[in-house]
Amino acid sequence: MDAMLQDLFDDVVERNAGEDEFHQAVREVFDSLALVVRRHPEYAEASIIRRICEPERQIIFRVPWVDDAGEVRINRGFRVEFNSALGPFKGGLRFHPSVYLGIVKFLGFEQTFKNALTGLPIGGGKGGSDFDPKGCSDGEVMRFCQSFMTELYRHIGEYTDVPAGDTGVGGREIGYLFGQYKRITNRYESGVLTGKGLGWGGSQVRTEATGYGLAFFVQEMLTADGASFDGTRVVVSGSGNVAIHAIEKVHQLGGTVVACSDSSGYVVDEQGIDLALLREVKEVERGRIADYAERRDGAELGRDGSIWDVSCDVALPCATQNELDADAATRLAKAGCRVVAEGANMPTTPEAVDLLQEAGVRYGPGKAANAGGVATSALEMQQNASRASWTFEETEERLERIMRDIHSLCLTTADEYDLPGNYADGANIAGFTQVADAMLALGVV
Ligand code: NDP
Repeated sequence: MDAMLQDLFDDVVERNAGEDEFHQAVREVFDSLALVVRRHPEYAEASIIRRICEPERQIIFRVPWVDDAGEVRINRGFRVEFNSALGPFKGGLRFHPSVYLGIVKFLGFEQTFKNALTGLPIGGGKGGSDFDPKGCSDGEVMRFCQSFMTELYRHIGEYTDVPAGDTGVGGREIGYLFGQYKRITNRYESGVLTGKGLGWGGSQVRTEATGYGLAFFVQEMLTADGASFDGTRVVVSGSGNVAIHAIEKVHQLGGTVVACSDSSGYVVDEQGIDLALLREVKEVERGRIADYAERRDGAELGRDGSIWDVSCDVALPCATQNELDADAATRLAKAGCRVVAEGANMPTTPEAVDLLQEAGVRYGPGKAANAGGVATSALEMQQNASRASWTFEETEERLERIMRDIHSLCLTTADEYDLPGNYADGANIAGFTQVADAMLALGVV
């Protein structure tokens, strides 16, 4: 790493001790910036890089609620408002026991550059709680969401900060959060949250957008290499919102998804994942991936290793951070995988990224490949602001165009910096320079 960037990175580590995922996300962006700082001394002069690593505001709060047994439970809530140079803070809420400040900051940092890549007027933020909705009744989830919003409402607004869903926060949770916001503020301010239901201010395609957008992005990567989805074997980790919609769109585009997973294991289904059954098991019954294997003729529950041992042309990690490590990358490359694109945020470790790139595997980073979700959230905000509702087809067409534009922005930026074909550097540089230029224009704020 460039000496100045190394000093800045050491400072980030010292100021944010113990936040390993945040350090990893910062390092990954810094690794792409050596040429940028040489070509743009004005960024260093205005301390843009140091400022970009410091969130504008970090909020941590107590979330007390009462469970069905009458016991008082206490969780911790977070909202990190990272950067508003391009628009109101925008980014999802994650409810998962692993959530702590370092996870929220890594996600908020990533989100800032991802949102810039969409070309839409949105800044970056992220939030969540260490609350685990798994195993909770609807009533418990509602009481938790109401308590969470009773603090959060004072920090958000359609011109200030617009949260959405992420892991553990789907349509049910967004409904409870919006209901409480409306009640406390006495305002039907649709643009304050995205991911809303279609009957009350939501947008067509928002639920599908991250997974569909990922498939569109990969289609562009394949086309750039003179290939297509036709006849490709695809492996998708996870079986949540992103994974399910990625599987659906890959099948529509001509690929076959032969394996998927959840946190309890993975399943291999050579005929192609049966999406209706997967949805029944995971979305309706909130069951385990083993239930899918049991009910589907010919499907096998993975007994050894991990999902990355299943040979494929295209691998789409769509579950969680750091799920694809160096060993997995080596095995994927050896087995002939040609493309790895991230549906999840930071699912590939830095060592794995290096190994994939050295082996000639095309690597599509999450901040570009999974930006379809937030882009469609911004489209939801546009519809809310103009009291309009677009059709499914119109919204999907806009999503596809945005993903095509992000893909070509990554490649043209990589070319400008003599890094042809490097999507990771292209995405980091394009996202960073857009935010940095806006920050320069806005002065020292
Ligand atoms: P969900 O909660 O809907 O799904 C997460 C899925 O990943 C579940 O199937 C879960 O299994 C599985 N999972 C979790 N940990 C592991 C693990 N260690 N190994 C294998 N599977 C695991 O979340 P989303 O689909 O919304 O989000 C997934 C990722 O995509 C996250 O990184 C998120 O930040 C990112 N993302 C999401 C966006 C969105 O619009 N939702 C937008 C952009 C990025 P189980 O059912 O057992 O918990």
